[in-house]
Amino acid sequence: MSAQKIYLNTVQLKAELDRCLNCKNQPCMNACPVNCNPQEFINQAKQGNYTDAVRTIGRNNPLGQTCGLICPDKFCMAACTRSKIDFAVNIPKVQATILEKYRRPEDKPFCPAYNGTDIAVIGAGPAGMAAAAVLSRLGYKITIYEASSRIGGALNMIPEERLPRETIVKDWETIADERLIELRLNNPVADPGYLLREYAGIIIAAGEPNCTNLGIPGEENCLCYMDYLQNPEKYKTAGRVAVIGGGCVAADCAFTAKNNGAEQVEMFVRRRLADMRVTRREYLDLLNKEIDITALSSPERAEKKNGTVSLFVRRNRFNGDKLEAIPGSTVEIPGFSLVVKAVGSYAGPLLENSRIIYAGDCKHGGSTIVEAIASGRSAAFIMNERLMAAAA
Ligand SMILES: Cc1cc2nc3c(=O)[nH]c(=O)nc-3n(C[C@H](O)[C@H](O)[C@H](O)COP(=O)(O)OP(=O)(O)OC[C@H]3O[C@@H](n4cnc5c(N)ncnc54)[C@H](O)[C@@H]3O)c2cc1C
Ligand code: SF4
Repeated sequence: MSAQKIYLNTVQLKAELDRCLNCKNQPCMNACPVNCNPQEFINQAKQGNYTDAVRTIGRNNPLGQTCGLICPDKFCMAACTRSKIDFAVNIPKVQATILEKYRRPEDKPFCPAYNGTDIAVIGAGPAGMAAAAVLSRLGYKITIYEASSRIGGALNMIPEERLPRETIVKDWETIADERLIELRLNNPVADPGYLLREYAGIIIAAGEPNCTNLGIPGEENCLCYMDYLQNPEKYKTAGRVAVIGGGCVAADCAFTAKNNGAEQVEMFVRRRLADMRVTRREYLDLLNKEIDITALSSPERAEKKNGTVSLFVRRNRFNGDKLEAIPGSTVEIPGFSLVVKAVGSYAGPLLENSRIIYAGDCKHGGSTIVEAIASGRSAAFIMNERLMAAAA
């Protein structure tokens, strides 16, 4: 997708700024998990004061541009007063566009001198990056340990057409103070407790790196969404592709397969269409891209046959509120070149230690970028309080 479609053009930006009602009670800010203040930055931008608008966005959100591109419409936009007149101000896009067009290197937030205390952060996803941003602005020296070869965590699984990877790097460049933050890529931490010898505290923001299994015979013939979305070009997506799951991650698998040449993509969703955990925009995209969705269906077995995979799919129905299998309804659907499972993920066990604080998806379960950022920030402030109390 071109930058023009991802960001607003000048006319569109002005129109969105003009649509804002400058509500003094700031419902948009109150609905934002990081308390980003759209009323304030939109007002500043409206007056042509983009420097302050950029700073206002960066005050609470170190990943403002990335967040603006992918934040779902259930926070600020759902609360926006303008929707009572016609439709909500497109706040996330306004935010991303202001940063894309007007952020300059000198807008990087100020970090004070090193305060003498070192903290480790495990994971360079949104929660880990946000924690490092807050702590470095308080003078702590941070080492980020990241298992993979790149920053961004689960954001790297989002299709490029929704989130160009350069956006994550642009946000990271405003966080990365070379005096206070050291990023160690390709550095998985096997025993976080061991790091306590070297660091005053540890923030663990390791996400949910384990794929939830379907628990069906032939599961080994189904690829985990993480393996697929991290390297989609590695897998054959000619012909027909099946995606098992009905959430936004499953939708991204379907889009990716379609974009990479699959002739037909079929999603198998356990519950009803109305129960799918996708945004309205994602649902419309699924329809526009002609992804087939088979609702009330559960694959029970996956078998390799002549170089393709057959799925044996059972039908489900609701009996009152209870979802139940329809006996004798299983049919074989043959001929998939690839079957991707996207039914969830989970974190490893959490350690109990007052010098270790968990943040992001590994603490709260699969969430959104803005919630992970809020959690990383909150972990950083709690860590600061604990270290200050211990030093007092
Ligand atoms: C396909 C997909 C699409 C999504 N789409 C959206 C969307 O449109 N909008 C939205 O708001 N959210 C979306 N999300 C959710 C969002 O990406 C996550 O909620 C967010 O990335 C969680 O941040 P986190 O920092 O807690 O964890 P993660 O982003 O998972 O980052 C954890 C990091 O820790 C590293 N790590 C793990 N174990 C170790 C270890 N032992 N040592 C060192 N490093 C380790 C991992 O390599 C990873 O880089 C999507 C997620 C996926 C998977
Ligand atoms: S709620 Fe909507 S209209 Fe009101 S200040 Fe926020 S963005 Fe503007």
